[in-house]
Amino acid sequence: MELVVQKYGGTSLQTAERMAQAADRIIKETKKGRQVVVVVSAMGSTTDDLTALAGQVTTRPAARELDLLLSTGEQVSCALMAMALQARGIEADALTGSQAGLETDATYGSSIVKSVDPLPIRQRLEEGKVVVVSGFQGCPGGHEVTTLGRGGSDTTAAVLAAALKAARCEIFTDVDGVYTADPGTIKGAQKYEEMDFESLSALAELGASVVHPRAAEAAKSGHIPLVVRSSFTEQEGTTVLPANARTYAFPVIGVTYETGLSHLSIHGSMDMKKLEEEWKETLNPWKAVQHTGGCQYRIIIRDEDVYDTRSFLTRFRGKLACRVSEHATGRALVHVVFKSGEEKQNAEAFLQQLPLPSGVIVQSQPHVWSIDVAENHRVDVCQVLHDYCMKRETDPVSAAN
Ligand code: ADP
Ligand code: ASP
Ligand code: MG
Repeated sequence: MELVVQKYGGTSLQTAERMAQAADRIIKETKKGRQVVVVVSAMGSTTDDLTALAGQVTTRPAARELDLLLSTGEQVSCALMAMALQARGIEADALTGSQAGLETDATYGSSIVKSVDPLPIRQRLEEGKVVVVSGFQGCPGGHEVTTLGRGGSDTTAAVLAAALKAARCEIFTDVDGVYTADPGTIKGAQKYEEMDFESLSALAELGASVVHPRAAEAAKSGHIPLVVRSSFTEQEGTTVLPANARTYAFPVIGVTYETGLSHLSIHGSMDMKKLEEEWKETLNPWKAVQHTGGCQYRIIIRDEDVYDTRSFLTRFRGKLACRVSEHATGRALVHVVFKSGEEKQNAEAFLQQLPLPSGVIVQSQPHVWSIDVAENHRVDVCQVLHDYCMKRETDPVSAAN
């Protein structure tokens, strides 16, 4: 019997009515004679609301308790979805991440799934049940609860699909596929009918929030086709397949942006590469490092890493004579994502023609052109770059809005 994993995101479950629509779609799938495992996100803006609530009781919530709090959002959806299915005459069991066999490491807030015990789900499927799993969470042992980082329900779906050797993993969301830019903000973004895992990972890692980067990785390594589609229409989505599924004629995969970034300006004589390597061993990699002249450097990091980065640099102060001279928030990076470093080099001349002020292009990764902008300019800059890049494209991806 074919097994399918379906994941429903927050907007697809925002109200009881949407929950019911999703339940009807799940039932349609079972009627085709398939076993279905459903992964659910928290309803609507629940995760943001819970985070804000924690912020009202403390400015620095403990990671362990924050995970316990946030994981409840998915458990609410999970229990309600199972009830909605039962009310329609379908046998269904709701499971937390831990009950579903997801073992993670102990990094609260962004834990990694280490293994999946497929037995709890398999047994229920064999009993003819639909299994509904709370996304975004797991267990590092004992009765602890961890979460997988924002957007982590996609990862739950992909790792379960791989562990259960599913025929495919469907990500139901509020857009009908993966586009060359965020179709919610960028005019003329084009939808991919098909794409390869490398391209999806490249976009996801650089801010295309439609699929979590770790989900793309998990589906790829498990050889599971991933389908991104709308929960509101019957439209075909984007099918993501291994690299040889399709070759693209054009060098730019898409244009993305990342928000919530800060600048730290550092002054001192030091080996920035060495410093960055040491930092990477402990926390998130820096987004970019710029040499701004003499002994001055600027690093671009996530807002949430500012505190830890400052402490890290202070520890090195004596040894490296470095000092943080300035800190600016409200920054964003707009990324032009190429298929490869070689493609980027070939396109260097055309990108040089763009009317960009000097100093805004930062070195990040070999296949990416990254532009450092104020957060409130990100959409305009992304639009200009997208218009420019896509004008040059020849590949027949389907036109969107
Ligand atoms: P869900 O709650 O279903 O997980 P998300 O908000 O996490 O949904 O992801 C869907 C959103 O991703 C879309 O509403 C869209 O605005 C955004 N998005 C950003 N980049 C892209 C892209 N390249 N293609 C499609 N959607 C994108
Ligand atoms: N509810 C979590 C979030 O909003 C996880 C997810 O939706 O994937 O980030
Ligand atoms: Mg998401």
